[in-house]
Amino acid sequence: NVQFTIQGLKAQIEGKDILKGVDIEIKGGEIHAIMGPNGTGKSTLASAIMGHPAYEVTAGSITLNGEDVLEMEVDERARAGLFLAMQYPSEIAGVTNADFLRSAINARRGEGNEISLIKFIRQMEASMKSLAMDPQFMHRYLNEGFSGGEKKRNEILQMAMLDPKICILDEIDSGLDIDALKIVADGVNDMRSEERGFLIITHYQRLLNYITPDFVHVMMQGRIVRSGGPELAQRLENEGYEWLKEELGIED
Ligand code: ADP
Ligand code: MG
Ligand code: MG
Repeated sequence: NVQFTIQGLKAQIEGKDILKGVDIEIKGGEIHAIMGPNGTGKSTLASAIMGHPAYEVTAGSITLNGEDVLEMEVDERARAGLFLAMQYPSEIAGVTNADFLRSAINARRGEGNEISLIKFIRQMEASMKSLAMDPQFMHRYLNEGFSGGEKKRNEILQMAMLDPKICILDEIDSGLDIDALKIVADGVNDMRSEERGFLIITHYQRLLNYITPDFVHVMMQGRIVRSGGPELAQRLENEGYEWLKEELGIED
């Protein structure tokens, strides 16, 4: 089974405190959503989990099935089964989507256990089909010239093929029209399993109409300030964040 635990996590960027003590526990089979106004540290949390060098963790712990994630290098975190679908995926000129993905899969599987080319191509074709992606994206350079929606779909393609234990999706809904949003949500829902947990970061409730979370957390000023079920997301959609700020005595 999967058990992902974040306790008292504090993180800085360029000496500035961004995360001020975050606690989250995700078990296999669960979908957690994090909502919150812009600039509150949601992407910082995702980056800190993945070990992005710009973010310095100053306190707290992150464990995956009891293993200390903060001790792991970036590539070890991916191998351990952590995956981040990024808000702004980077472009890599000269590396095709297929080459990139095959290297990533082989890195995750480990030496001596590489996927055969035939099997890889079959899986990639099948996954692309289920995400309604044009087959030409297989041989395009990674994210180069992709539209916002194409990049996001490509992130989900990588996620589907890497078979992670913890999937973190950072604003995967931004830049998606409603049809693409449904395809992406279907892709996520197909991946729901007792062997996997999800952390879905979203600014808008819209995505949660298609992916029903078990838990909704609100992040403000670097902390989780409220947790609840899907009804919490609905209330934020209807009423915005002001009522919560007032209840908590938070000023902008
Ligand atoms: P969110 O994802 O909730 O919109 P972020 O985690 O991206 O918020 O940002 C949190 C805060 O950290 C913001 O004030 C932002 O300006 C700052 N920040 C994020 N990344 C950097 C960076 N690379 N350098 C300096 N400040 C940053
Ligand atoms: Mg943002
Ligand atoms: Mg963000």
